[in-house]
Amino acid sequence: MVTHSSPSRPERTCVGCRQVAPRDQLVRLVRESAPGGAAPRVRPDPTGSAAGRGAWLHPDTSCLDLALRRGGFARSFRGAVDTGPLARELESPDFTRTWNR
Ligand SMILES: [Zn+2]
Repeated sequence: MVTHSSPSRPERTCVGCRQVAPRDQLVRLVRESAPGGAAPRVRPDPTGSAAGRGAWLHPDTSCLDLALRRGGFARSFRGAVDTGPLARELESPDFTRTWNR
């Protein structure tokens, strides 16, 4: 059995660049259901503890771009999602300050 992750430093795969990284370097993203049957929105989960299926992404717009182009979110969340608000959040100074400690 081959394993290269340790229990004390869990690793996740970025949905954008597909590289494995320690989870504290990635942003957890979750779905937020939208009213009226619209596609769920993808939102950051800064606590990493929101319920439900999550996806992991480097807090980097280039990784977001890759995820969008490769359909990484649809794969992770097993369905169509609305990532429009997410792109704006990742580019906001507040978000960058939170994640680029
Ligand atoms: Zn990445």
